[in-house]
Amino acid sequence: MKLAIFDERRLGVVSVDERSIVDVTDLVPFYDPDPLSGWWRRLCRDFAEIAPRFGDAHGPARPLAEVRLQAPVLNPSKVIACAVNYREHAEEMRSRILERTGTDQSAWILQFDVFLKAPSSIVGPADAILLPERPLREGREIHHESELTLVIARGGAQIAEADALSHVLGYTIGLDITERGSGDRSRRKSWDTFTPLGPWVTTADEIADPGALTIHLAIGGETKQHASTRDLIVGVPGIVAYASSVMRLEPGDVILTGAPQGVGEIHDGDVVEATITGLGRLRVPVRAAGPVHA
Ligand code: MN
Repeated sequence: MKLAIFDERRLGVVSVDERSIVDVTDLVPFYDPDPLSGWWRRLCRDFAEIAPRFGDAHGPARPLAEVRLQAPVLNPSKVIACAVNYREHAEEMRSRILERTGTDQSAWILQFDVFLKAPSSIVGPADAILLPERPLREGREIHHESELTLVIARGGAQIAEADALSHVLGYTIGLDITERGSGDRSRRKSWDTFTPLGPWVTTADEIADPGALTIHLAIGGETKQHASTRDLIVGVPGIVAYASSVMRLEPGDVILTGAPQGVGEIHDGDVVEATITGLGRLRVPVRAAGPVHA
């Protein structure tokens, strides 16, 4: 099932051919249009119980092109992201650090770990990545990273690897937009609009093996990243186990699994287009943000 949030936070199921959407909002008994109501996280928690109702959705199917798709998650308690989870990406970053600083004394930054991005950085398929003015003025680069992204169903702490996949509601495409350079990762990756997600959440039952998906990212039709999730250093179950050993996972939490090699700069006017097997296509324009106002 492909779950989308569209228009004024309506819930929809996208057709198998990805051309139309049925509004199932009225089948969610605890739906509340207030964005702070928590209905989405409750749906993540109770999805197994609610999902059978969606099979009865007979509402009129609307062409997907007629709705405005929003980010397919709402108010996650946290956005976790993996650092350095593909060897070839680790190598490209090691070369970059050596070239820029003449040393790899920052080697710790090339080890697998998890960090947090601000949930307020999430945007959806109908939005744009806004390049903030300050880092550009300072000569910094803003990079794209395209990542297989999980949405947590049942939360939990100390989740065993063997149980990990049963805690995953589904998968979507995530862009971990990044200001390169020194400074805390959580700040450099948390500028508003720096976490585009979408176009929808494909539920886990449709993804037989999250470790066998192809990730592709192109800018203006030119391929920049092309990789397989089979090259993840820590696979999806290991990521869920490790993250939950540190911080309790809540229903609706989002986890980006790390960028494959081929990261690079994005510029005003670019259109970034990412696809992952079975998860659709996320196409987001890049624009310069206006100057920062206090
Ligand atoms: Mn990343």
